[in-house]
This record gives sequence, structure tokens and C-alpha cells, in this order.
Amino acid sequence: MLDGCGREIDHLRLSLTDHCNLACRYCVPSGARPSPNMIDPSFAFELVKWLSVCHGIRRVRLTGGEPLLYGNLVPLVRRLASLSDLREITLTTNGQALGRLATPLREAGLSRINVSLDTLDPKRFTQLTRGGCVKQTLKGIEAAVHAGLTPLKLNMVVQRGFNDGDIVTTAKWGLEQGCIVRFLEVMPIGPLAHVIDAHLVPAAEIIERLSECFTLKPLKQPLGQPAVDYAVRAGDLRGVIGVIAPTTQPFCERCRRIRVTARGSVVACVHDSRHHGLSHCWDGQRFDAAEADRILENAIMEKPAKGPNSQTVTMISLGG
Ligand code: SAM
Repeated sequence: MLDGCGREIDHLRLSLTDHCNLACRYCVPSGARPSPNMIDPSFAFELVKWLSVCHGIRRVRLTGGEPLLYGNLVPLVRRLASLSDLREITLTTNGQALGRLATPLREAGLSRINVSLDTLDPKRFTQLTRGGCVKQTLKGIEAAVHAGLTPLKLNMVVQRGFNDGDIVTTAKWGLEQGCIVRFLEVMPIGPLAHVIDAHLVPAAEIIERLSECFTLKPLKQPLGQPAVDYAVRAGDLRGVIGVIAPTTQPFCERCRRIRVTARGSVVACVHDSRHHGLSHCWDGQRFDAAEADRILENAIMEKPAKGPNSQTVTMISLGG
């Protein structure tokens, strides 16, 4: 599938629910939470089948909200794993419920997993996530590595004044567990943009801090991967650390991604407020592929060359 700028689109981020058991300050607006949306599991399956068979989607990342809160997750992964056009099914989670789900997910056919971990410090973790328990996430990471959901990537969103002092500690801990550790610039997005902006730590500064402890050797960047990865070494400790810089070094020209939200809308660009509804293409039993083709074509052709910074909602609604 080629978009209006000639970029090949073959990655899908599918949000299963916009409900989350945490409320990270850069992702979830404070105050009242609207009632959660969950995508119908049969609709989700038909969507991915149609996108992979008819439109060349090859990699699916299940996300949310928190995808581990989706009741039909394991059966859905099992069905998706039967789609021969898909090369990879991955999932992004805060890991709070991963301890009990890692093995069933692996057995159902999940390829690997990314876990968000913004700090190892128990108090700071609870503050940053507004109520999370870091021990639970660490247990989840251990279970996922044990289950073979590897290479497991740890994602730390770096925020000045909150966790920027934790970069090296998290990197070392993650490498010791055999994980790839990724540091992300925070994205000023939607209604939280003004709150987030003041806490941005640019990728160049993240690399500078890592360089004080590690030797870093840049690795070749695979197609469609926004992270710049480095082979790193500190004494006997070796591994891979990556940095993702959507804010200071946007990678729009290499973007191969579309999103489908838990409300069943296509979002072609995370920074674009245009959402293209597909939910009327599903009547509970039949998927109207002809109508969905028409909507998808519009969305793909309108995918902007560069993120327009017009997004009106935050990542919890979009699917991060
Ligand atoms: N609940 C899951 C989790 O925590 O990984 C999946 C959904 S969450 C929206 C997906 C990812 O988006 C997380 O790694 C989170 O840190 C990231 N994210 C959310 N808002 C962000 C922002 N404004 N800037 C950068 N990353 C963000």
C-alpha cells in the first residue's frame, strides 16, 4: 500500500481499548475519564485480515490504552497468528498484568513484546503513572523474558524533572535482563502538549548522558524503524540501546504506519486530527470490505508528508 507521498505502509498499530489501569501524566489527561471503548474482537480480526490480505499490512502491534485489560486478548492473538500474510504480531504494555499473561500470549502466537518502564524507583513510578506498582511491571518483564517474548524492548519516555536522572540506571538494569532499552523523547501531543513541552529532553542530550557511562556504536537502521540503535558496552555489560526522537528529529519521511483506534477509526498520522471511521463497515457479522476500501484509500492518500501538529486527543485514545 503506497500513500499519497509514495511511502509504503505495512505497519498497523491496533488499539484494542482506550481504557488503562495507569494514568501516565503525558498520556492521560487528569480529571474525569470517559467510559472505555473496546473494539469488537471479531471486527478486530476481520480488520487485520482485510488489511493484511488486501492491503499489504505485514506487522501488527496491539496497543491501547492497556491491551492486557482486553478480555479477548489471548483468543484474538491466536486468531491473528493464523493469518499467513502477517510477519509479526507484537504488543506494547505497561506490564502490570504481564506476570500471568506472558506465557498464554506466547503460546497463542505473539512474537515479542515492548514494556513501558519510565523509572525503576517505586515511589517515582507510582507518581508518574498515578498509582502503578513497579514491582508488578518488573515481575511481568521477568515472565515475558522467561516465556520467550524476546527480544523484549523496554521503553522509557524521558521527562526532565521527573525521570531524567534515571537514564543510566534503567539502561544498566535493562541490559542486565537481556532487554533492548529504548529511550523516547516525549511528544507534545493533543490537549496535553503545553504540559508536556516543558519536560522534553532532546535525544542529543539522552545520548550525551549515556555516553558518560557506555561506549556507543551506531547500528544500521532497518526499514520502518524509527529508533536509532547503538551497540553499547560498559565493562562486561553489552547490549543494544535505542533512542527515538519524534520531537527533535521527526521521521515522517520514513513512516510506514497507520493506526486503528479502539473506536474503529483509521488514523493515518499520529499528529493529524483527521480520523476516518470504519465502525459502520461492521454490522456484528459481516465486514463491508468495499466500503472500508474506499475509506482507507482516502485516509492513506491524505496522510500528510509531515505531522501537522493538529491532533486533538492524546495517545491513550489513539493507541501508542
Ligand atoms: N499502556 C501501554 C503502555 O504503557 O505501553 C500501551 C499504550 S501507551 C499509549 C504506548 C506508549 O506510548 C507507551 O510507551 C507510552 O509511554 C507512550 N506515550 C504515550 N504518550 C506519549 C507521549 N506524549 N510522548 C511519548 N510517548 C508517549
